[in-house]
Amino acid sequence: MKKRRILLLSLCLCLLCACGQRPSGPPKVDFLAMDTLMEFSAYTDKSRLEEARDLVMDIERRVSTTSQSSELYALNRDGGGSVSPETAALLDTALSLCRLTRGAFDISIYPVVRAWGFTTGDYRVPSFDETAALLEYVDYARIRLSGTDVTLPEGMEIDLGGVAKGYAGREAAAYLRERGVTSGLLNLGGNVQTIGSKPDGSAWRVAIRDPRRETDYAGIVEVRDKAAVTSGGYERWFTGEDGETYWHIMDPATGRPARSGVLSATVIADDGALCDALSTALFVMGPEKAERFWRDSGGFDMILITDRDETLVTPGLTYTPLESAPYTVRTLET
Ligand code: ADP
Ligand code: MG
Repeated sequence: MKKRRILLLSLCLCLLCACGQRPSGPPKVDFLAMDTLMEFSAYTDKSRLEEARDLVMDIERRVSTTSQSSELYALNRDGGGSVSPETAALLDTALSLCRLTRGAFDISIYPVVRAWGFTTGDYRVPSFDETAALLEYVDYARIRLSGTDVTLPEGMEIDLGGVAKGYAGREAAAYLRERGVTSGLLNLGGNVQTIGSKPDGSAWRVAIRDPRRETDYAGIVEVRDKAAVTSGGYERWFTGEDGETYWHIMDPATGRPARSGVLSATVIADDGALCDALSTALFVMGPEKAERFWRDSGGFDMILITDRDETLVTPGLTYTPLESAPYTVRTLET
């Protein structure tokens, strides 16, 4: 089986990045966390950025699925337990996003993700029987969170990989805003969190990667004081012996990689955790359901690139497609 692991390193930063910073620029801190390169820059002291970095590393230490010393690891091993108030807050946020998306985003997907080898890199294609059996353990509604006490049903395990980066971006931005920072850009491996606007008052410009052409981008969206998060099948995938491509975003209804017609889903909203979970959920839902979901729940903007080479954009955004990108842009009507 051909294996392929895409680490989101410098390439990614070029592709989903903020363009047009001043050449001299603000202080910057780069670091590796949550399996990706993160890049924080803001108009403040470098030590403030280092504090924001430490906050992100602390979230990672608590909720990594693979590190044996994390709180989440202990929960999965023991079927529950007591967690720190910070981890309880993240679980509470994640569970409310599972409910909002009616399980298109489901943090109990971990046994399925592991069966496909996405946690270890030992990729394989499980049989339909195997994935069907694993779905027995997938249902966020059966997770009990009471204060800081968590109870998981037998066999269930939690994966916060679909929301942790967005949550960390939101918390880091809140930390910096509380300390008077009014302009900054936090890139958490393709999860972009902006603080205010650029110092000259103009919007941050975030490039949206072209899901069909890895090294190119499809367009640029303007963002002020919000998060912009993209989920795409191109981020982590492998080719099976059957020649099919299998990626890391699972449809909790089938236990198999979501093939919904969405190639990439970008969500722009105030709350980075919401953006992260919704970008995963809209990828699972597919274009029609995603559009209905946007109309029904509101509170966010989105850019969906579909396998029919259409880019669906909500009217609240200023989006400029790259001229050479092969997608027809359709602005949704309110
Ligand atoms: P990335 O982490 O690459 O930015 P996403 O935010 O879309 O991408 O999250 C994908 C990760 O979330 C997967 O690696 C897996 O750990 C987990 N995941 C996969 N499918 C789902 C799902 N339907 N609901 C919740 N988490 C998921
Ligand atoms: Mg996500």
